[in-house]
Amino acid sequence: MTKAIRIHTNGGPDVLRWEDVPTPEPGAGEVLIQHAAVGLNYIDVYFRTGLYKSALPATIGMEGSGTVRAVGAGVTDLAVGDRVAYAGGPIGAYATERVIAADRLVRLPDAIDFNTGAAMMLQGLTAQYLLRRTFRVQAGQTIVVHAAAGGVGLILCQWAKHLGVSVIGVVSTEEKAELARAHGAEHVVIGHAELPAAVKRITGGAMVPVVYDSVGRDTFATSLDCLAPLGLMVTYGNASGPVPPVDLGTLTAKGSLFVTRPTLATYTAKRADLVAGATELFEAVTSGAVAIRVNQTFPLREAAAAHEALEARKTTGSTVLIP
Ligand code: NDP
Repeated sequence: MTKAIRIHTNGGPDVLRWEDVPTPEPGAGEVLIQHAAVGLNYIDVYFRTGLYKSALPATIGMEGSGTVRAVGAGVTDLAVGDRVAYAGGPIGAYATERVIAADRLVRLPDAIDFNTGAAMMLQGLTAQYLLRRTFRVQAGQTIVVHAAAGGVGLILCQWAKHLGVSVIGVVSTEEKAELARAHGAEHVVIGHAELPAAVKRITGGAMVPVVYDSVGRDTFATSLDCLAPLGLMVTYGNASGPVPPVDLGTLTAKGSLFVTRPTLATYTAKRADLVAGATELFEAVTSGAVAIRVNQTFPLREAAAAHEALEARKTTGSTVLIP
């Protein structure tokens, strides 16, 4: 037997249960991993509440690091004892051990410890595709980053600065503003009510070519008002709830804007894209350009407390759960 956090119904953090489950066996093309650390991500909240659907009972979680314990038939490029990490579906990371397809794993460089590995894969691969693929930022540009002191946010701030980009970070408190500044945000705005006016002032009226908005419902309209004509609205999360349907005429009226609603799953669906993204991410981290801030750790069995903190906006940077 092994231990896992499972949900039998959707709801608040109290539906997360620490249970005995049978130790899974790897099938063809799969490996069994013993987790050293599990990453906490906002998407875990969406699966817990039922905003994103899964069959029940379910072990949620999309990210982890650890050691290969067994390999299934046909797995030739991984061996027992290898240090690995992963991000993305299928869910099942909130467990001491799990089985996963070998082609979803990457080897963790020796210079990256397990906690950092579990903290950085999902949020770091997201920052990579957002800045390098969804909209390939260029040195000299100014961009808007919401939730700038969060997990994805602190990585975006540092990586953008490294690329010569000026970040206008949006946060909710003075303490988070300090943190975002310390991680490369050149400008920080507290709250989003005055955001378009601040962007106008900072850019001398030009506005920005791209907004990275993970807050969703509460900030969508405000974010559109920060864009220059032909700008790209990247709405990539629902921390405040999903964005309601949009009247496309709004995009015309605000200057022929573009909108995308991307997800990491699409950007890493091909193994080659996963490996390329991870290679760039590992380089960003091992070179020191991007520091992964594991600002909270919780025992895995106390995942409910971690969810409460995340939803109450009490966390900064990344959080890991230790089995
Ligand atoms: P964060 O650490 O960023 O935590 C969420 C933050 O969102 C909070 O700290 C808070 O920062 C801000 N926030 C604003 N409004 C609310 C609200 N009503 N309730 C709660 N938080 C709010 O989480 P992650 O780094 O894990 O994820 C960030 C976002 O990115 C999430 O929306 C997630 O779904 C999305 N995401 C999307 C991916 C994709 O591929 N599409 C992949 C990875 C993440 P503050 O207090 O400063 O406002």
